Amino acid sequence: MAVIIDGKKVSAEVKEQVRLETAELIKKGVQPGLAVIIVGDDPASRVYVNNKKKACEAVGFLSREYALPATTTQQELLELVNKLNDDEEINGILCQLPLPKGLDEKSVIEAISPLKDVDAFHASNVGKIMIGDYDFLPCTPAGVMEMLHSYNIAVEGKKCVVIGRSNIVGKPMGMLLLHENGTVTITHSRTQNLKEVTREADILVAAIGKPKFVTADMVKEGAVVIDVGMDRDENGKLCGDVDFENVKDKCSAITPVPGGVGPMTIAVLMKNTLKACKLQNNL
Ligand code: NAP
Repeated sequence: MAVIIDGKKVSAEVKEQVRLETAELIKKGVQPGLAVIIVGDDPASRVYVNNKKKACEAVGFLSREYALPATTTQQELLELVNKLNDDEEINGILCQLPLPKGLDEKSVIEAISPLKDVDAFHASNVGKIMIGDYDFLPCTPAGVMEMLHSYNIAVEGKKCVVIGRSNIVGKPMGMLLLHENGTVTITHSRTQNLKEVTREADILVAAIGKPKFVTADMVKEGAVVIDVGMDRDENGKLCGDVDFENVKDKCSAITPVPGGVGPMTIAVLMKNTLKACKLQNNL
C-alpha cells in the first residue's frame, strides 16, 4: 500500500513557519504585503485568488486584491503593475493567469519587478533558477520538492520523469530535480513511446492537464508518483492527471488530488512573499 503524501499537512507546516516569522517581523514594524491582480471573471481563477487571500490573512500578511474587468487594456494593466512596483507596502506582486484574450501575459510578467516576482516567472528569475543561484523558486515545482523533502524521498541518483514542459511547471520541475542530482527526462506531447519512458521512472511527475492520463501500466512498481494536475473528471469532479485509484496500488508513494500539490503551491507563495519582504528590508 502506497504512502499517501499529505499536501495539506506539509503545507500547514510551511505556513505555520511563515506565520511565526511574520509575527517576529511585525514586532519590528515590518509586515509582508502581497498584491494579487485578477482580470476578468474566470471562475477557477477566482477560486485560486480567494484561496491566496485566505492564506495571506492566516499568516499575517497584508493582502490586497485588484479585481479588474475583462475590458481592461494592456496599458491600464501595466500602469497598475508599475504602481505596485513602487509601492513600499507591497513586497510581492502576482498576476493571476491566464489573462483574458487580447492581453499579453509575457509583457505583464516582464513588467513585474524581479524583486517582487513571487511567482518566479520573470525571465531574470528563470535564468537565476537555471544557474542554481536564485531568490525565488516557482511555487508549484518548489511545493513538490518540499513534499519530497518532508517525506524523506531522496532524488539523488534517481531516474526522474516529468510529463509536461510548460514554463510554469514542467520545465522548472525538471530543473529542480536536476539540482538535487536526479537524472531527469522531460516528456511532452511529441514524445514517442511515452509509456516506455515513464515506466523507467523512480520519481514520476505528471503536469499535463488531462484527467487520469497516467494509468497503472505507465508506472514502475514502487515508483513515487506526483500529480500536479487539476482537472475535472467525466462527472465534473476535481481529479488529477493520474488515475489515482489504480496507480496507488503499484507505487510506493503518491499525491492525491485534491489535497496534494495544490495546497503546497499556496504555501510556497507565502514563503516567497516573506522572503521578498526580508530581502527588500535587508533583514
Ligand atoms: P500546460 O501549459 O497546458 O502544459 C501541458 C503539458 O503537457 C505540455 O507541455 C504538453 O506538451 C504536455 N502534454 C499534453 N498532452 C500530452 C500527451 N498526450 N503526452 C505527453 N505530454 C502531453 O499545463 P500546465 O500549466 O503545465 O499545467 C498542467 C496541469 O497542472 C494542469 O492540470 C493544471 O491545472 C495543473 N496545475 C496545477 C497547479 C497546482 O497548484 N496544483 C499549478 C499549476 C498547474 P506540449 O508542450 O508538447 O504541448
